[in-house]
Amino acid sequence: MDFDFETLPKFRGKLLLNAPLAPYTWFRVGGLADALFLPADEDDLADFLKALPADIPVTVLGVGSNTIVRDGGIEGVVIRLMGGYWGKVEAQNSLTVFARAGALDLSVARYAAREGISGLGFLSGIPGSVGGAVRTNAGCYGRELKDVLNQIEGVARSGERIVFQGELVDYGFAQVGFSYRHTDFPDDIIVTGLLLSGDDTADPEILKAEIEAHQTKRAETQPIKDKTGGSTFANPDPPGTPSQRSSWKLIDAAGCRGLRVGGAQVSEKHCNFLINTGDATAADIEALGELVRARVLEHSGVDLRWEIRRIGRIQKS
Ligand SMILES: Cc1cc2nc3c(=O)[nH]c(=O)nc-3n(C[C@H](O)[C@H](O)[C@H](O)COP(=O)(O)OP(=O)(O)OC[C@H]3O[C@@H](n4cnc5c(N)ncnc54)[C@H](O)[C@@H]3O)c2cc1C
Repeated sequence: MDFDFETLPKFRGKLLLNAPLAPYTWFRVGGLADALFLPADEDDLADFLKALPADIPVTVLGVGSNTIVRDGGIEGVVIRLMGGYWGKVEAQNSLTVFARAGALDLSVARYAAREGISGLGFLSGIPGSVGGAVRTNAGCYGRELKDVLNQIEGVARSGERIVFQGELVDYGFAQVGFSYRHTDFPDDIIVTGLLLSGDDTADPEILKAEIEAHQTKRAETQPIKDKTGGSTFANPDPPGTPSQRSSWKLIDAAGCRGLRVGGAQVSEKHCNFLINTGDATAADIEALGELVRARVLEHSGVDLRWEIRRIGRIQKS
């Protein structure tokens, strides 16, 4: 990239050049960002985006629990909203919680439980940030983010501050297009905060126990201690038999459990999870995913859709 980042004005956040991204993803793979910006707050983010020439690509990364950063790294600026400021969670009233985009879903679930707000406990099953949850309409245990979402605050690529609410036509939720593990949320908007509504008030001890039960079940059924990106493929939409609507069953039936490419492996514990066994490259993981897709297509005729985001440049050999 030709752009000289040193020509930008000084910001309160940190700007790191040629920054490794692997440490910021669950898979622990991927190349360098031309630049990594860690804004201090919304004003700092907006000022940075206004000053950055419009032709420099901007990519936002949460905690990288749903993302493969390719080995060739990412062109332009990667933005992460992490650290104390961006992790803030606070009650707005007896049923509504405000969370900044870098807050972990688990932290929001635990906070709501402590405050005695029911209906947000499902977030404890998602190991990402709430900013990332908007993009993927993250969900589990029969609930999705859209079911509890009240308002989204963001900053556009132009630096303009934006608020999405149900009643706003131009930037209304209908336009965001939430569906199963997918949204049409505009690519050029960085989510900075969310208002989330619970269902009712409840006994905090019961809500905490519900979260602990979710955590225990996860640990039993998913390779959560491995370097992984969660479910690799979305469950296929109906029509189809029940077994054709479950990605893991299709992958298992195609004989892919334990399959390897380089340092990447289909998890033995949950075969819709790919894992980095230690020395995988992003190319290994992506190639393994494509091999699984091809085998499932051949075996069952179902073309699986990647749920994991794959971003950045393929490394030239
Ligand atoms: C063990 C494991 C279990 C999982 N289980 C589930 C599950 O049950 N349900 C589920 O839905 N997911 C699950 N996931 C996937 C993942 O946790 C979710 O998709 C999560 O919402 C991703 O959040 P993140 O912060 O890690 O996002 P990232 O992976 O960093 O990014 C994902 C996408 O969100 C965008 N993004 C991130 N932050 C922002 C922001 N502030 N503004 C705008 N866009 C942003 C990124 O550009 C990217 O397109 C699991 C993952 C793992 C590793």
